[in-house]
Amino acid sequence: MSVVTRFAPSPTGFLHIGGARTALFNWLYARGRGGKFLLRIEDTDRARSTPEATAAILKGLDWLGLDHDGEVVSQFDRAPRHAEVAQALLAKGAAYKCFSTPEEISAFREKAKEHGRSTLFQSPWRDADPSSYPDAPYVIRLKTASDGETVIEDQVQGRVVIRNDQLDDMILLRSDGTPVYMLAVVVDDHDMGVTHVIRGDDHLNNAARQMGIYSAMGWDVPVWAHIPLIHGPDGKKLSKRHGALGVDEYQKMGYPAAGMRNYLARLGWSHGDDEFFTDAQAQDWFDLSGIGKSPARFDFKKLENLCGQHIAAAEDAALLREIEAYLDVTEENPLTDAQRDGLARGMYCLKERAKTFPELLEKARFILTDTPVVPDEKAQKALDPVSRGILGALTPHLQNASWSREELEAATAAFADAQGTKFGKLAGPLRAALAGRAVTPSVFDMMLVLGKEETIRRIEHAVTSETG
Ligand code: GLU
Repeated sequence: MSVVTRFAPSPTGFLHIGGARTALFNWLYARGRGGKFLLRIEDTDRARSTPEATAAILKGLDWLGLDHDGEVVSQFDRAPRHAEVAQALLAKGAAYKCFSTPEEISAFREKAKEHGRSTLFQSPWRDADPSSYPDAPYVIRLKTASDGETVIEDQVQGRVVIRNDQLDDMILLRSDGTPVYMLAVVVDDHDMGVTHVIRGDDHLNNAARQMGIYSAMGWDVPVWAHIPLIHGPDGKKLSKRHGALGVDEYQKMGYPAAGMRNYLARLGWSHGDDEFFTDAQAQDWFDLSGIGKSPARFDFKKLENLCGQHIAAAEDAALLREIEAYLDVTEENPLTDAQRDGLARGMYCLKERAKTFPELLEKARFILTDTPVVPDEKAQKALDPVSRGILGALTPHLQNASWSREELEAATAAFADAQGTKFGKLAGPLRAALAGRAVTPSVFDMMLVLGKEETIRRIEHAVTSETG
C-alpha cells in the first residue's frame, strides 16, 4: 500500500508549534515510505478563516522545509462534493431528514434532564415516513447505530472503544445546505486517498463520529494515530511563556530550520537514545510505534542544544543562505557583498558553538563591523597605553609573517617570549583591535579571515587612536 498522509490546519491563526509538529510527523511518515504528503486548508468556518492565516501557515511550512505534494486543497471549495455525499447517504437510507426545530431540541433535552435520561437528542424523524414530511427547513442527520460499539484501533492510543448509544445522530448537512466540518473531513480524506491520519489527540472523539460516516459509505477507514499534545516544561498546558508561539517567532529568534525539525521530531517521538539526527535519518527511522502516549514537554534548552549541533554540522553555503533569510525576516540590513564574502570565509569558525543565528552573528562582529573598529567599553580597557605599545611592537612581526595559522602562531609566540610575556596577554588587545570586543572567535581565526592587510590596518588604528 502506498502511504498518503496529510496536514489539515484550520486557517484561524499562525502555524503554532503543535501544528508544526503534526505536519512534521505526517511529512516524515510519508517521506520515509516514498508516499505522499498532502496539504488541506480547512477553511469551512468562514467566520474564523482568514487568507492571512493561510499565508502564515504556508510560510511556516516553507520555512520548516515541509514540502507537500500536489495542489493545496481548500476544504471550502469542496462543499458541493460534501453535500453530494450527504445526499448519497440519504439515498442509501443511512441518513435522514430531520425537521426538528431548535426549540423542540432544547425541549427534548430539558425533559431528558428532568427524568435523568441521556440528553443526546433522539430525533422523532429518524424512522418517519417521508409522506409525513412537512414543507419546512430540515437538516440531514446520520443514522448512527444505536447499539454495539465503535472501535478505534489507534496506533498511539491503543484500542479505544466507544458505545454507540453515546453517539447521537450527528448533523451532516445544515438546513442552509452547508456541510458540517465532520463530514467534510471524512469526504476529503477519502477523496484524497489518505491512508494514515496523524493528528492531535484532541480529535480522538471526532474519529469515533467520523468512523460512522466511513462505514455508512462503505469506505476504507484510514490508520489512526492521535498524538498527545505538547506541554510546557512544568507539565502544564503549553502557554506563550512556554513557547506556544507561531513558528515564525522561532525563525525570528534565529533557530535553524534543521534544528527545529530535529527538536520537533523528538517532541513525543523517540528512536532509542538518539537526540541529534539528520532529516534522512528521521525519515528512515520515523514510525508510529515510536510515538509516546504521554504529552511531550517543550524545553528551550534542548531546542538550543540541537540547534547548535545543526549549525555546526551545516554546510557553509546553506548556512549563509539561511542567515540571509533570517536577516530578511527580522528586517535587519541585508549583507553587503564584502560582508557576505567575509562570512563565507569565516563560517568554518563562526558555526562552532553558536546555538542561534544571533549568536553566530555576534561572533561574526569582526567581519560585519564598520571600520575603523570602535571598541566597546570592555574592549577599550584592553587597549591601555602599555598594551597599545605591545601591539605596535608586534606589527612588524606580523608584516613579515606569511599568512598561515602555523606562522602566525609561531610569530606571536616568539614575540611574546621576547617580551617576557604570555600569548594570553596579547589576546585581549588583539581581540579589541580586530573586533572591538572582549569576546571573539580565536585571534588567529580572525586574522586569517580578515587577511594580512586588514588585520594590520586594524591593529595600527588601535595603536594610534586615543583611548578615552
Ligand atoms: N483542522 C483541524 C485542526 O486544525 C485538523 C483536523 C484533522 O486533522 O482531521 O485542528
